[in-house]
Amino acid sequence: MLRQPLLVLARSDRVKRLVTAMPVSSGIVSRYVPGESTHDAVTATGGLIEKGLHATLDFLGEDTLDREQADATVAAYLDVLSALSDNGLARNTEVSVKLSAVGQALPDNGEKVALENARTICHAARNAGTTVTVDMEDHTTTDSTLGILRELRKDFPETGAVLQAYLHRTESDCRDLAYEGSRVRLCKGAYNEPESVAFQDKHDVDKSYVRCLKVLMAGQGYPMVATHDPRMIDIAGALATRNGRAQGTYEYQMLFGIRPDEQSRLAEAGEKVRVYVPYGQEWYGYLMRRLAERPSNLTFFLHSLVSTT
Ligand SMILES: Cc1cc2nc3c(=O)[nH]c(=O)nc-3n(C[C@H](O)[C@H](O)[C@H](O)COP(=O)(O)OP(=O)(O)OC[C@H]3O[C@@H](n4cnc5c(N)ncnc54)[C@H](O)[C@@H]3O)c2cc1C
Repeated sequence: MLRQPLLVLARSDRVKRLVTAMPVSSGIVSRYVPGESTHDAVTATGGLIEKGLHATLDFLGEDTLDREQADATVAAYLDVLSALSDNGLARNTEVSVKLSAVGQALPDNGEKVALENARTICHAARNAGTTVTVDMEDHTTTDSTLGILRELRKDFPETGAVLQAYLHRTESDCRDLAYEGSRVRLCKGAYNEPESVAFQDKHDVDKSYVRCLKVLMAGQGYPMVATHDPRMIDIAGALATRNGRAQGTYEYQMLFGIRPDEQSRLAEAGEKVRVYVPYGQEWYGYLMRRLAERPSNLTFFLHSLVSTT
């Protein structure tokens, strides 16, 4: 499988320099990232909402080791939340935040800074009439992220969590988080994780995803089913019916540019569907994770690289 080698290659500075020389407008980048500015994000969101979809916006960036950059990320979220509110889009659009982009990885008091920054974004989201979901990153941050989420939920109980089915621990985390009012996004997981903490075989990850879905759908919380996998989508629908859940008491989530026809099909069938819209200049890590998930994109990617360099 190409997934792990690609994620390892993505850490090379040379590969990063080569790839980031491509403009955001080049085919392979714009397929997954609608643009770099607040305006681009709001325009893409407006288009999705016109199609009956919801959105969650991610200002791209991660692993920030610089306090100023973390503060700039917070400012970008405040800016986009105010633009969403001004354009009447906030009701159907929330934001997704990576704690490592708002300071979690800072050497001294990273967790404290990330919590304060996340609080500021939650506050602005609430004022705009919407919510925040805290993205989940690699396994070394899971405990810290869930700890910060617990703190945030004391003041902002509407804050969404993300759990990754590829981690051995996740079924148990689902049980802990399946309480009333708890919004939980379940995804398979996008990072290169060791065997000691994560299932390596796709089939095992899928089986774990189903076990976790069972817990969340039977629980009292609000499951957010983040997958493009047709089998997982069918199983989620069947579990919702089995648990007597009406449409709108859970939602489907997919990434911008992936299976747009399926996004529309589900929305037309009355399901709530939210599209994750990443934007900003720091698209490299995000793009490499998407390529690693779908090695058949590589030919297209290499073609884009050759034609722009
Ligand atoms: C809304 C949302 C939020 C997410 N948030 C997080 C997060 O916080 N943390 C995290 O670790 N991961 C996150 N992810 C990513 C997730 O963990 C997976 O890496 C990703 O969704 C691919 O898994 P899948 O469930 O679609 O299943 P897969 O088995 O990978 O794919 C199923 C099918 O989907 C299509 N597909 C999947 N990926 C691609 C692609 N890149 N390009 C084209 N087609 C594709 C293909 O048809 C494929 O056969 C998120 C995903 C979504 C949808």
